[in-house]
Amino acid sequence: MAKINIYDIEKIKNVNEKRVWNLIVEFYESHTEYCTCRDCILDVVSITLNTIPPHYQVSDDLTIAINKISDDEILKTIKKAADRVAKYPHHI
Ligand SMILES: [Zn+2]
Repeated sequence: MAKINIYDIEKIKNVNEKRVWNLIVEFYESHTEYCTCRDCILDVVSITLNTIPPHYQVSDDLTIAINKISDDEILKTIKKAADRVAKYPHHI
């Protein structure tokens, strides 16, 4: 019988998630016109991650990740997401 451990779900990482969090910092540093409240940032990250393709691998070591999407493309997606959140914010 195959040794399937459903808790191994923690071992598989979408490395693009880490890349988005790294790039979002860079984005907000150069785009101070956007709201940086927690709600807006989480919305921008969620929209961005739902837009770009996932890239799952066993290790979350970014140095061995084969990038199927460039940092520039991710930054463009973040910009579009930030524009959308600015237009329809959930913050109070
Ligand atoms: Zn906000």
